[in-house]
Amino acid sequence: MATNDSCVLCQGGRESHLHIFWSCNFTSRGWRCFLALMKKIGVSGQPSQLVYESDSEWRARLRLILIWSWFIWFERNSRVFSDKRSSFFELASSAVNFCSLCSPS
Ligand SMILES: [Zn+2]
Repeated sequence: MATNDSCVLCQGGRESHLHIFWSCNFTSRGWRCFLALMKKIGVSGQPSQLVYESDSEWRARLRLILIWSWFIWFERNSRVFSDKRSSFFELASSAVNFCSLCSPS
């Protein structure tokens, strides 16, 4: 049975965990967008306490990476199983909204 093993996010590489989380163009562009939007929110005086008021900077960075990875995996599965797709900007915006909703204030 022939299968298409190209990445459903960028169609530019062979799908693997390593590709999706490390070298995928969609993931990289979305990550930069996510960080830019988070920084913009921080500058406007509404930082997410989930990630910015953490007990250490490395934990804050780890939380950002985990949140973004979860959103990438969710997007990958939405495309594969539900034929639903978001742009990297829409996905980054959703991740930022998630961070804001998780803020305890
Ligand atoms: Zn890819």
